Amino acid sequence: MFAEMQAELDGRARQGLLRRRRLLQGPQAAQTRVDGAEVLTFCSNDYLGLANHPALIDAACRAMTEIGVGSGASHLITGHHQLHESLEDALAEFVGLPSALLFSTGYMANLGVVNALLRRGDAIFADKLNHASLNDAAIMARAELHRFRHNDLGQLENQLTTSGVRRKLVVVDAVFSMDGDHAPLPELLALCERHDAWLYLDDAHGFGVLGKQGRGALDHFALSSPRIIYMATLGKAAGVSGAFVAAEKLVIEYLIQHARTYVYTTATPPALAAAALAAIKVMQQDSERHARLHELIAYLKQHLRLRKWSLMSSDTAIQPLLVGDNQASVRLSEYLRDKGILVPAIRPPTVPAGTARLRISLSAEHTMDDLKRLIAVLKQAESELT
Ligand code: PMP
Repeated sequence: MFAEMQAELDGRARQGLLRRRRLLQGPQAAQTRVDGAEVLTFCSNDYLGLANHPALIDAACRAMTEIGVGSGASHLITGHHQLHESLEDALAEFVGLPSALLFSTGYMANLGVVNALLRRGDAIFADKLNHASLNDAAIMARAELHRFRHNDLGQLENQLTTSGVRRKLVVVDAVFSMDGDHAPLPELLALCERHDAWLYLDDAHGFGVLGKQGRGALDHFALSSPRIIYMATLGKAAGVSGAFVAAEKLVIEYLIQHARTYVYTTATPPALAAAALAAIKVMQQDSERHARLHELIAYLKQHLRLRKWSLMSSDTAIQPLLVGDNQASVRLSEYLRDKGILVPAIRPPTVPAGTARLRISLSAEHTMDDLKRLIAVLKQAESELT
């Protein structure tokens, strides 16, 4: 078994696909210390720069001093704290849906919801670029899995038309995590209505970024429907950890009974709920932070003009620079790292073959000077790398 494992790892290394963990030795911030060096990072999903915000730190510390660290039990035993309940109410109100339910992570929320709603004989319709957790959820549910080409509603419509199953669930990333573009949600909802399907939206990368005050993809598109089940994570723009699902009250009650990743796990520390409540308050009160993020996005799109590589089409904090070749993307990422800038190279199987890219992610904590430095070093790389 050891020899087999080693051979497999060696094979990955030969293809330039071996993954390594970098060691973060400073705070979660745009300028920090990684692997022993001071670096400017464009890697995190902390889009609003809240992970290290004094209001969140203060809320978490005060809650921990008052009520301790661990939650002690699952939500259905005695782990469901008043702070969790208050956060669920605040999140439902913020995204404009009747009710919300907290999960420990986005991965667990996706597994929990899809498996609670579907069983053998049902069908799931999924965009090919959906997050891995949604694909895993579909496989676990043993439902029929129909994958359609990225944002290809014609193909989805064919699949929905020919399917005769009891329950249909259309599942998409509202903002695609490695591309930064969004799904055509109004048209998707119209299709779901025509074919009596549920629409499950994973807004991990839209929550905090899209819509007024960062209320997410539903606010951005002014969408509302009882057939929408909305999921967003709290470990990205909200700067904390965890996730929530928001939907009709009946759906949330059903999930409390049937989502196994909700029922059979320890509730997250209530102090994290206190920090997330503080994050929602900052999003509502500090409109400049949200505006700054969008100024940075617009600046990068306007000023990053290269001959060899181009930004993919995106209006979100995820601004991927398409390189194509695996090794070339790694060389570019290493070139930037040598100049003190961290931008991860994303390769297959995370993205389709031939589309390796640098995933530049922006945060409200970046300055214009940070962006100018990134652009200058990329231009230098273009002339120096063959
Ligand atoms: N959905 C999407 C689109 C994501 O990008 C991620 C995180 N990479 C998740 C779900 C999982 O969320 P979490 O990290 O909270 O498990």
